[in-house]
Amino acid sequence: MKSACYVPEGRQGWWGGPDTRLRCRADDKVVFFSEADAQKAANRATNRGDPMIFYRGKCGHLHVARKKVRRHG
Ligand SMILES: [Zn+2]
Repeated sequence: MKSACYVPEGRQGWWGGPDTRLRCRADDKVVFFSEADAQKAANRATNRGDPMIFYRGKCGHLHVARKKVRRHG
């Protein structure tokens, strides 16, 4: 069973505008409706220089998360 979702009010996104994306109550992350959407978002972030991957959480929703990168030094 999927966790409940909500649309945040008065939240600002990283782009500086209002963030009205649907979020998951269980972990407060943005919800994606398909693996294709999640993959696209992960790719966009990766192209921005912020490597991300998508996964399905215990909450039942698709989310993206920052990829753990092993840094040299
Ligand atoms: Zn979730």
